[in-house]
Amino acid sequence: MRLTPSVITVAGLGVAGSYLLRRLHMEGFSAEGYDPKPPGYYIPCGYAVNFNLFRDYCRMAGLEPDNYLLSSGRRVVMENSSGLSMEFRNVGLSTIEKNSFERDLVEGLRVHRERAKAGDEVTVDATGISRSIIGHARDDFRMQTLEYLADSGLSDAFLFHYFPRASGYLWSFPLGRHFHVGSGTSDPVLLRQSLSTFSGHVMRKVGRAIRLRPLFREIVSGTIVAVGEAAGLVSPITGEGILPALESAEILVQCLKRYDGDEALMAYRKRVEGHFLRYVKLSRLQRDFASKPSVRDVLYLRAAKEDLVHFGIGVSALRMLLSLALT
Ligand SMILES: Cc1cc2nc3c(=O)[nH]c(=O)nc-3n(C[C@H](O)[C@H](O)[C@H](O)COP(=O)(O)OP(=O)(O)OC[C@H]3O[C@@H](n4cnc5c(N)ncnc54)[C@H](O)[C@@H]3O)c2cc1C
Repeated sequence: MRLTPSVITVAGLGVAGSYLLRRLHMEGFSAEGYDPKPPGYYIPCGYAVNFNLFRDYCRMAGLEPDNYLLSSGRRVVMENSSGLSMEFRNVGLSTIEKNSFERDLVEGLRVHRERAKAGDEVTVDATGISRSIIGHARDDFRMQTLEYLADSGLSDAFLFHYFPRASGYLWSFPLGRHFHVGSGTSDPVLLRQSLSTFSGHVMRKVGRAIRLRPLFREIVSGTIVAVGEAAGLVSPITGEGILPALESAEILVQCLKRYDGDEALMAYRKRVEGHFLRYVKLSRLQRDFASKPSVRDVLYLRAAKEDLVHFGIGVSALRMLLSLALT
C-alpha cells in the first residue's frame, strides 16, 4: 500500500486540522479540508497557550503571532479546595484569539463546508471529541465543561481552582477586555454549583465534553490517523489541548515527508507516544487521586512539573505541587 497520497483528506478544521492543512499545502502535498461548521462558529475553549511555544508554530505556518495575542504576563495563581493558594511565575501563559488563528490558517486553501468521509487514501481524523472518522475508543475518558465569556473574572490573574480528588477545576483567564470563566469536572452537580455564584455579566455560555486521556493504541486504523483531541492529546491535569494539537499535526507532516506507505503512520504513532509520554503518567496520577493516592504518585510529580512548564507556568520546586495535591 502506498500512502504518499494523491490527496490527503483532513476531516475537521479546528486548530489541529487547520494547521495541518496549511502545513501540508506548504510542503507540497495535495490536501483538502472538510468541516460543516460555519465560519466564526464558536467551539468552547479557554484560549490559553504558552505564547513562547505558540510563536514557533505561527512562524512555521507563515503567520504573525502577535496578531493573535489577547492577554499575557499576568500572575498565575493555583488554589485547592482546602483554601491553599499559591502564586507561580508566568513563563509564557497567555490567551490568544483562537478563532482568527484558525480562520487565517485555512485562508485560500481547499475547504469544503461539509462532513468528511473516509476515503481510500490517508484520511486524517481531526474531529476532536467526536472521533467521527476513526470511531469510538475503548479507553476513552472525558469530563464535562461549562464556560462563560464574561465582562469580569474571578481574579485579574490566570486562576486555576482545583476541586477535591482530582475531579476537575475552575478557571478564570483574562482575555483582553473580557474573561473566560469555566469549570470542568466529572461531577455534574459540582459543574453547576461551581459557577452558580459567579456574579459577572455573562455574554455567552457554552459547554462540551473534553477528552483527558491519550489514546495511543487507537490513533491509527488502516489509512485513518488521528491528531489533536481526536487522539486524546489533551493534558490530563490542565486541559491544555491547543499546543498538543499543533505539535501532533507537525509530527504527522514530518512523518509524511520522510516515510512512505504504512511506515509514515507507524512512525507517527511512535513519535507521538514518545512526545506525549508524560500524559500516560498524568493520566495515572489523575486516576490515583480520584480513587486512592499511592506512593508512586510522587514519581509522577516530575511529569506534572514538565506539563505545567509546557503550558507556561513556572514551577520552581516539586514541593509546591506536593502541597497543592496533598493539603
Ligand atoms: C471548555 C474548554 C476549555 C478549554 N481551554 C483550553 C485552553 O485554555 N487552552 C488549551 O490549550 N486547550 C483548552 N481546551 C482544549 C482545546 O480547546 C482542545 O483540545 C483543542 O482545541 C482541540 O483541537 P482539535 O483541532 O483537535 O479539535 P476541535 O477544535 O474540537 O475541532 C474539531 C473540528 O472537527 C469538526 N468536525 C466534527 N465532526 C466532523 C466531521 N464528520 N467531518 C468534518 N469535520 C468534523 C468540528 O466541527 C470541529 O471544527 C479547552 C477545552 C474545553 C472544552
